Amino acid sequence: MNLEKKLIEVLNQAKEVFHKVESSQDLQDKKAEYLGKKGVLSTYLSDMKDLPVEEKPKFGQAINDIKNQINGFFEDAKTRIEKAAVMKKLSLEAIDVTLPGKEIRLGSKHLLSQVIEELEDIFVGLGYTVKEGPEVELDLYNFEMLNLPKSHPARDMQDSFYITEELLLRTHTSPVQVRTLLENIDKLPIKIICPGKVYRRDDDDLTHSHQFTQIEALVVDHHASLSDLKGTLLTIARKMFGEDRQIRLRPSYFPFTEPSVEVDVSCHKCNGVGCSMCKGSGWIEILGAGMVNNAVLEAAGYDSNVYQGYALGAGIERIAILKYGIDDIRALYTNDLRFNRQFK
Ligand SMILES: [Zn+2]
Repeated sequence: MNLEKKLIEVLNQAKEVFHKVESSQDLQDKKAEYLGKKGVLSTYLSDMKDLPVEEKPKFGQAINDIKNQINGFFEDAKTRIEKAAVMKKLSLEAIDVTLPGKEIRLGSKHLLSQVIEELEDIFVGLGYTVKEGPEVELDLYNFEMLNLPKSHPARDMQDSFYITEELLLRTHTSPVQVRTLLENIDKLPIKIICPGKVYRRDDDDLTHSHQFTQIEALVVDHHASLSDLKGTLLTIARKMFGEDRQIRLRPSYFPFTEPSVEVDVSCHKCNGVGCSMCKGSGWIEILGAGMVNNAVLEAAGYDSNVYQGYALGAGIERIAILKYGIDDIRALYTNDLRFNRQFK
C-alpha cells in the first residue's frame, strides 16, 4: 500500500473515531493519538526522510491537509461534547415551577412582650416615658436606698441571687426608680415606667418562677396624691381588662411606699359575681402600689416636705395569666410553640 492510500485510511478512521467520542477526557486522548508529538501523523512525517527528494514537498502538503481535516473532526467533536454537557446540566437544574413552595412560617411576638407593649402604650398615652436599667444591680439601689437596710426583715420577702456582698440580680425593677431619682433631681416632674426581668430565689411551680417580668411606674412632683394614683390605677385596669372594671384598694405594707395598697380589679370573667378565677370573691389582686416613702425620697436627695410621689408595680406574667386564663406560669418560659402560637 502506498503512503497516500495509507493516509486516506487514517483520515477515514479518524473521522469515525472523533464522531463516536463522548467524553472530553476521551477526546483529549484521541487528539494526542492522532495529532500529538508521538501521534499517528508524526510517525508518517518521520517516514518522509526515506522518500526521494522530489516527492517530499507533495507528501508534506498531503500530511498537512490530513492534519487540518482531523483537527476539524476534533473541533466538531469538542463542540458536540460541550453542548451535551450544558444540556445535561440544564436538565439536572431544571425547576418545576408547578410544585408547591415550602411554607415559611412567620414568627410572632411572645405573649410577655405583647403584654409589656400593651402596658407601655397605655402608660405612654398617659405621658410616661420608658426607662431601663441593669439586671445585675447594686445592693445599694436594689435594697438600701429603697428603705431596706441590710438588717431589714422585709428583705426576706425577696430572697435573692447574690453575686458578691454588694452585687445581686435585681429582685424588682425598683432600682431603676432609684437611678431615675438620682439622675433627675433637677428635672422634675418624674413620670416613668420601667419594665424588665427580675430574679428571686423561688422554687418554680404553677405560680412562681425564679425569673419573671415586672413593670413599675413612678411619679414624683410637687403635688402627687393618692387620688392621682387611684385614677391612674383605674385607667390601667380598664384599658387592660375592659371598660366596665372597678378597682378597690386594700391597705398593705411595702418598705418603699407609705401608705401602701394592694389593688384588686373586679373579675373580668364573671363581672364580679364570683367564679373559679376570682375564687368566688368577684375581685382579683393585680398589683401593689403606694405613695413613695419619704425615706426613699430623702435617700435620693429630695426634700420630702416639698416633693411627693407615687409608685406601682405589677407582674407581667400575672397580668398575662389573668387576661388569657393561663393555668401554669411555666408555659410562658418553656417555649412550646403550640402554646406560643395561640397568641399570634
Ligand atoms: Zn370571677
